[in-house]
Amino acid sequence: MHGFIRPGAGWIEVITGPMFSGKSEELIRRLRRAAIARQRLQVFKPVLDDRYANGEVVSHSRWRIPSETVERSEEIISALDPRTDVVGIDEAQFFDDGLPGVCRHLADLGKRVIVAGLDMDYRGVPFGPMPELLAIAEQVQKITAICARCGAPASYTQRLVGSSEQVVVGAAGVYEARCRRCHEPDGAVEGEERWLIPPPDPAEAPE
Ligand SMILES: [Zn+2]
Repeated sequence: MHGFIRPGAGWIEVITGPMFSGKSEELIRRLRRAAIARQRLQVFKPVLDDRYANGEVVSHSRWRIPSETVERSEEIISALDPRTDVVGIDEAQFFDDGLPGVCRHLADLGKRVIVAGLDMDYRGVPFGPMPELLAIAEQVQKITAICARCGAPASYTQRLVGSSEQVVVGAAGVYEARCRRCHEPDGAVEGEERWLIPPPDPAEAPE
């Protein structure tokens, strides 16, 4: 086992920004480059993100990469193949608070860890484990989208509907990117929910 541990070789990089900024695109770009370099990849995403496909990380364009879906961050450790060189994690904002510790552990093992996620929710509030990840990462890339209202660089995600019944992820018409000046944290929001994806209901789970 020790042959797979390369102390000092690991690090954490974070790709963050609002919706429609191309975070998954950038994650996939980096993973493809690693694959071309014949490095072994594993990609994880939380069970909440079922955008377009199961078992794949899909960007808003057509690039996709196979992924493993996990419910809790510690499952990344148990699912880890010791031979893996690069660990990709998408939609990191939906993970539990254990994710930064998991990423630190992976980096200590010598893995390159690439994390993509929203830095803020639609209210402009730091999202889930992302603040800590941004703090402990060796490298952070914040990318902007284009403000749907004025065309300026956009760092905020604007929620456009208030219905708590609506379960839509990444859909145009429900969210759009906005700049600081155009962002309305309370716009169109009626419910208590922090995001439009409700947490999984154990009572409704299959089986
Ligand atoms: Zn604007």
